[in-house]
Amino acid sequence: MLFEFRCKKCGTITEAIVKGDVKEVECSKCDAKAEKIISAPHFHIHGFNATNGYSNEKEIKPKVG
Ligand SMILES: [Zn+2]
Repeated sequence: MLFEFRCKKCGTITEAIVKGDVKEVECSKCDAKAEKIISAPHFHIHGFNATNGYSNEKEIKPKVG
C-alpha cells in the first residue's frame, strides 16, 4: 500500500509503498526518520465554484420623499 510519511526533521512528505505495520521510513531528502501519516485523506479540490452570494458592501439607498 502507498503511505505518506512526514519527516520529523524537515517536514518533507515522502511517499513509500510499505506494509501496513511499517511506521517509519527514511526521509527522501535528509535521511532522518519520517513517520507515517495515519488516515490522512487526500484533499482534492478541483473545480470549486465559489459563488459569492454575500457582499460586504452595504447598499445605501437614498431616501427619497
Ligand atoms: Zn527530512
